[in-house]
Amino acid sequence: MKGLIKKTIKSPAPAKNKLQPTIIPRDEHTISRKMIHPNALKVLYRLHQAGYEAYLVGGCVRDLLLGRKPKDFDVATNARPEEIRGLFKNCRLIGKRFRLAHILFGRDIIEVATFRTHHENANEDHGKTHQGMIIRDNVYGSLEDDVMRRDFSINALYYNIADFSLVDYTQGMQDIKHNVLRMIGDPAKRFHEDPVRLIRAVRFSAKLNSCITPEMEEHLIKSSYLLQHVSPARLFQEILKFFQEGAALKTVELLRKYHLFEHLFPQTGALLHKMEYQNLIHFALENTDQRIKENKPISPAFLFSALLWPPLWEAFLLFEQQHLPAYPAFEKAIQSVLSAQCKQLAITRQLQISVREICLLQYRFTHRRGKQPYRLILHPRFRAAYDLMQLRAQAGEPIEELAHWWSQFYESTHEQREKMLRTVKQSSLHKKQRTKKSYPHKEKS
Ligand code: ATP
Ligand code: MG
Repeated sequence: MKGLIKKTIKSPAPAKNKLQPTIIPRDEHTISRKMIHPNALKVLYRLHQAGYEAYLVGGCVRDLLLGRKPKDFDVATNARPEEIRGLFKNCRLIGKRFRLAHILFGRDIIEVATFRTHHENANEDHGKTHQGMIIRDNVYGSLEDDVMRRDFSINALYYNIADFSLVDYTQGMQDIKHNVLRMIGDPAKRFHEDPVRLIRAVRFSAKLNSCITPEMEEHLIKSSYLLQHVSPARLFQEILKFFQEGAALKTVELLRKYHLFEHLFPQTGALLHKMEYQNLIHFALENTDQRIKENKPISPAFLFSALLWPPLWEAFLLFEQQHLPAYPAFEKAIQSVLSAQCKQLAITRQLQISVREICLLQYRFTHRRGKQPYRLILHPRFRAAYDLMQLRAQAGEPIEELAHWWSQFYESTHEQREKMLRTVKQSSLHKKQRTKKSYPHKEKS
């Protein structure tokens, strides 16, 4: 079996300049086995006992050293995927782009990856586009090769289960201590290879509050245009991550600083000179970060609605000027903004439906008659839409009266609600006679 596998796998070309790693022994770092998930330990030990090299690597080592709770535990080894499968009954091989082993422990998964190398070290080089981007990455290599294809030095520390030491080829430990985010290799070249690293740089800098090296900073702005070459599906996945890490506000500030935001949200980016829109997005991100701090669930649909609200409202005004009635104008605005946005980020169908509902509710909130408000309160998206309306008011849109009315209605008894509906009915009728129009925001004007 082993012979067969070897024949089908490309062997790496000899490395040009062998680097010497720094080995940090167990008594000189803070990672103890108690901090490592028992399932990850089981996987590491099994590989080690079978004679393979086995390391914890990536975000988990970085987070343990920083005293943060790792999201997951990833393992790197010199065992090939088929060999890993031979060792674990609960193993599933996945991935087209790279073959990875998933070891399943109920709902918990430990990902085990065979050391890989850069394409330029491999025997053939069919894995790059003409822009130099890596599109296929399944060439096995040594530990040193595996280090060099990683993005940042702090993500390239290896915890060795053989002697509990850390293997450090890139001065990652020093960068962790000094809180520095440093690209491994030449930033311009590494951003070209995979422009998603632009967003990852910003995400890690915001989340870990780390300082980007000046040479990487220079190339962040210069290389921002490369984002257009990344698939919308991959970009969407990266964006979802930063909403969930408690540093969404800081991340968006950095994305704007490095001119990356306008590549991700071009329609919104073009409107951020308007204070009320800037405020709205600021409050929505701040609110999300606060919820994460309090261990409350967050809603990507709410955030995407807030992020897309500025172009949506502007498109609505435009369609109104073209004499479309308010409701069709509003629907058309949502449709056109979402479909333009999906060219950059492949927002899932389900999320698009939710964003559409939250935004349509902004319109429906202006209809405060009869049974309508009772129906809206029961809508599954009411809470997210209500929160968005409150933030819009707080951000300076002229809807204070509407937002206040809804918070009162929401908190009132049935009798109080009935009374509120009677009075609002009168004021709406009166207004209709006067203005003959009822725009979402303009009801009070
Ligand atoms: P997080 O805690 O946010 O998951 P992470 O560092 O674990 O952070 P992952 O996306 O899970 O990030 O990736 C795991 C590891 O794989 C990284 O630490 C890094 O070493 C490597 N990696 C991931 N994406 C890239 C990339 N685009 N280029 C180079 N290396 C990458
Ligand atoms: Mg991770």
